[in-house]
Parts: sequence; structure tokens; C-alpha cells
Amino acid sequence: MVRNGADRRYVIIGNGIAGTTAAEQIRKAEPHASVILITNEPYSLYNRIALPPFLKQKISRQKVTIHNIAWHEERSIELMLETTAMRVDTQSKEVHLHTGRVLPYDRLLIATGGRANPMPGCGELKNVFNFQTLDDALAISAQIERSQNAVVIGGSYISYELTEAFRSRGLNTTWLMRGPYFLRRVLEEEGGALVDRIAEKHGVQVVHGVGIKEIRGRNGEVCEVVTSDDRVFPADMVGVGVGITRNVDFLAGSGIETSQAVKTDEFLRSNVPDVYAAGDAAEYYDRYVGGHTVMGTWDNATNHGKVVGQNMVGGSVAYDEVPTYSTTLFHSRIMAFGATPESNPELESVLWLDEATESYRRLFFHGEHLLGGVIIGQRKGFPRLIELIQTRDPIARSEREKLLTLQ
Ligand SMILES: Cc1cc2nc3c(=O)[nH]c(=O)nc-3n(C[C@H](O)[C@H](O)[C@H](O)COP(=O)(O)OP(=O)(O)OC[C@H]3O[C@@H](n4cnc5c(N)ncnc54)[C@H](O)[C@@H]3O)c2cc1C
Repeated sequence: MVRNGADRRYVIIGNGIAGTTAAEQIRKAEPHASVILITNEPYSLYNRIALPPFLKQKISRQKVTIHNIAWHEERSIELMLETTAMRVDTQSKEVHLHTGRVLPYDRLLIATGGRANPMPGCGELKNVFNFQTLDDALAISAQIERSQNAVVIGGSYISYELTEAFRSRGLNTTWLMRGPYFLRRVLEEEGGALVDRIAEKHGVQVVHGVGIKEIRGRNGEVCEVVTSDDRVFPADMVGVGVGITRNVDFLAGSGIETSQAVKTDEFLRSNVPDVYAAGDAAEYYDRYVGGHTVMGTWDNATNHGKVVGQNMVGGSVAYDEVPTYSTTLFHSRIMAFGATPESNPELESVLWLDEATESYRRLFFHGEHLLGGVIIGQRKGFPRLIELIQTRDPIARSEREKLLTLQ
């Protein structure tokens, strides 16, 4: 039976910013349709990018929540907490839950985000933390109260967020990276050295080019980290930021095409009719890059939610945003936007560094087009850079460097 908007059944897996924004969008367009939002977490929508300031005790627990349960009730969005989608049957159009319940759908959204990769070799040791969820933040915060020495492992944004949080709460903090510098696929040597200087100014010990040989425990708790060059670092807690894995494994056998994430077109439609994907769980067709890309940014997930919600009710809106990741870097800021070599290794780049003001820029090009960049420190000219990515104005090679100091 083909249902019209009034009695259509929408099922959304994942109640992060992508899934919840889509639910809101659908509800606005179709006041009487059934909208079910499923999450395996115990919370209604909270702000994942507020977790670092929460950990630094700059904001309260209440400020982390975006929508409470009542918000969903007022909009007749059925929120199923602590419920895991185990399997999707795209033939019968059903989602199978861990409870045994089966949810039929007419339109399905996969907005399941990613999970933090664990640190190999930690076994059952307590006090080794990933940083992905509100529960992680609460557990880390409690352990900080009992700790003096912290070690952070990884060269990603999350490892940096942990480093800043540990240090700002007074722990002796060592930051260990396997690569030669922070964000090794986005920055290069000079940018990496600038981040080191900023972190060291704040009392962080930064160590590069080391693997982890052993994470030693005593009475089930971590006590030391041994690096590949046999240095030993005392640790009352270890923070791990070694990337995420997209939550798409439960789609195996469904016929929905996945690689790193769910493959979609620019309308966020998967290869299977009536199945869509958004946010971190989508590997979408990016018009600016001219190929598929995955993003892990709040803006991207929010805007995906808006676009996919409109398309699920019958719209035809192409995703047309330049995603931006912006966060503090101790007393400074770092901002990455558009495509970077992290997702597109073949990009060419130009860079500029001003030691005196601790300002750094690296811009990424494909042929004659600007596709993205990274900025540390002052952000003057940033809106113009975004505009140049969107308009795809051709930029001659000889003109590239001028963009580095745009005002
Ligand atoms: C600590 C931290 C700091 C960050 N800081 C920044 C920042 O400063 N700037 C920025 O741009 N981005 C930042 N990010 C990234 C940003 O938060 C994410 O890109 C964004 O939240 C992704 O939203 P999403 O809705 O796609 O997925 P998520 O927020 O990951 O939501 C997906 C939800 O689906 C649930 N789920 C997964 N599988 C299932 C299943 N099978 N059944 C039911 N539920 C399931 C998950 O548990 C989760 O609740 C940060 C991320 C973290 C963790």
C-alpha cells in the first residue's frame, strides 16, 4: 500500500543533531504522519560539541541538553531511548530492534553517527576513556577528581579536546602522538609546530612519533603508559582519541550500500528507495569536491538533517553547504572548512604562518578551485574564502597565495 503524507511512517535511527533535526523538519511538513526516533543512548538530544566545555567546567550539565523529552511529546515525535536497531530489512521495509520489536517504515533515515575507536592493548583496565558521549564525559569528569597525571593518546581533534580539558583541570598532562604532528593530514610541519608551542605554553608535554608499547595496570586500573621508545609515563587516567568508526555495520545484508558510511547522492538518498542517510553516518556526494566524502562536524550534521527532512517528505533539495569545524585551541582557535586532505588526499596546498601573532593558514585546491582550508588564530577573510568555495570562481596558481592574507 502506498501511503500519502498524512499516514506515512517515518523511522529515524539515531537521535543526534542530524536525526533530531530531520524529525523536526518532517513534523513541520507532515503534522499527522508517524515519526519515530530511535537511540541506543539514554538521553534526548544533547550537544556533543558542548561536551569539551562541560568537561572543562565552563558550562553546566543542563546547558548540554538541547531538547528535553517534553519537546518530543509536544511535537508527537515518538522517542525510543536505550533502543538499538539491530537490522534493517529493505524488502519488507522493517527495522528490527534489540527488544524483538519490529518497526515498519515507509521512509527510513540512517543517522547513527560514529563510535570512538578503542585503544588496543588496554584489556579490561579502568580509567582508559574514549570521549564520544555524555556518559563518557561524566565518567571522565569523575576520574579527573581522583587524578594527578593524565596521558592522552592520538593526534585527532578529540585527543586535543581531552588534552585541553585535563590540563585546564590542573592535571599533569602528556600528549602522545604516533604521527609527526597534530592533525597530520590537515596541518603540515609548521602548523604542527605552532600547535605544539601553544600546548606547551599551557604546560602540556607533547611527544610525537611514538607508538604505544604497553599500557600497564595495577589492581585493574591504569598506572603507566610505555611508549615504543621505552619511555614510561605515569598515568592515573588515559584519554584516547584515535578516530571513529561509522555505525553502519548493522546494515550488513540489507542491500544498502556502505563503505566508510552509507553512500548517498547529493540529496542524501541511499541506493535503496526510501532509505536516506545524514550526518556522520553519510558518505554523501559533495558537489564542491565532485565526489563522495564523509564529514564529522556539527554544522554538517545539522544541515544534513534539514535537507534530508525536506527530501524525505518529497522535496528535492541538494546538500549545498561548506562544512566547518571550529574549536578552541587553548587561548587560540582552530577552524577547518570544506575539503581537506583528510578526506581528499590528492589536494594541493599553499600556506602562511605569522609567528608573532600565532596565526596560520593552509588552503586546499583542486585544479583551479579552492575547496577548503585550515586557520589557526585570527579568522579575518574567512567568509570570503567560503564564498570562493561556493561560487567555484577559478583561481590562477599565481593568485593562490594572495588568498592566504585576505582581510
Ligand atoms: C567530544 C566531541 C567534541 C566535538 N566537537 C566538535 C566541534 O567542536 N565542532 C564540530 O563541528 N564537531 C564536533 N564534534 C563532532 C560532532 O559532534 C559530530 O559530527 C556530530 O555530533 C554528528 O552528529 P550525528 O547526528 O551525525 O551523529 P551522532 O551525534 O553521533 O548521533 C548518532 C546517534 O545514533 C545512535 N546510534 C548509533 N547506532 C545506533 C543503532 N544501531 N540503534 C540506535 N541508535 C544508534 C548513537 O548512539 C548516537 O546517539 C565533536 C564530537 C565529539 C564527540
